[in-house]
Amino acid sequence: MLMKLDGIQKELRHGRSREDEFEGVTLHVRDDRLGVQLDVNIFPVYCTNCQQQLPHLYYADGSRYSLVGYFPCDLCGTTITLIDSDNIVEYHEIYTNEGQLRVEYRKLYKLDNDVWSAVKGATGYDIIARYKGQKVLLAQVITDICAAAKIDLSKLDGGPYITDKRFGRLPILINRWLWLLHRLKIA
Ligand SMILES: [Zn+2]
Repeated sequence: MLMKLDGIQKELRHGRSREDEFEGVTLHVRDDRLGVQLDVNIFPVYCTNCQQQLPHLYYADGSRYSLVGYFPCDLCGTTITLIDSDNIVEYHEIYTNEGQLRVEYRKLYKLDNDVWSAVKGATGYDIIARYKGQKVLLAQVITDICAAAKIDLSKLDGGPYITDKRFGRLPILINRWLWLLHRLKIA
């Protein structure tokens, strides 16, 4: 299912209505060699026809043979087709008549393996030692790191933080993560 995250009344199956009630990013923690893989459910969409970010964030909980869905751009009306990396979602490919864009969430959301090394260096928090072979929500890891580094999460400033100038608005969860990296002087 693909849906706009704001403007929805409710996600009936789970009774969720706000962005931060969704499990936005799940981390699949492998080992020291494979690192941490991502499964992204909440994301922004950029139209490669009118070259603007769509006003809503989107939620998707799966695809069929990598096809997440297609829908008209809110801004120019062109058809946008969204493809994912299938099994777990580490990137989306966005297609319109005017071009293709591959959005890599390791970069856009700053969740690559260098960042986990930097977090370990700054705080001693070793996600692989803690969750090896398991899945954990990014929201939980943010709570863990704040506890390890004695950072008060309630003092967070919500950003916005920009990691790619095409995307002026990122999910609340990601702004929280980028705020934490900023506090740790990692990003
Ligand atoms: Zn457009």
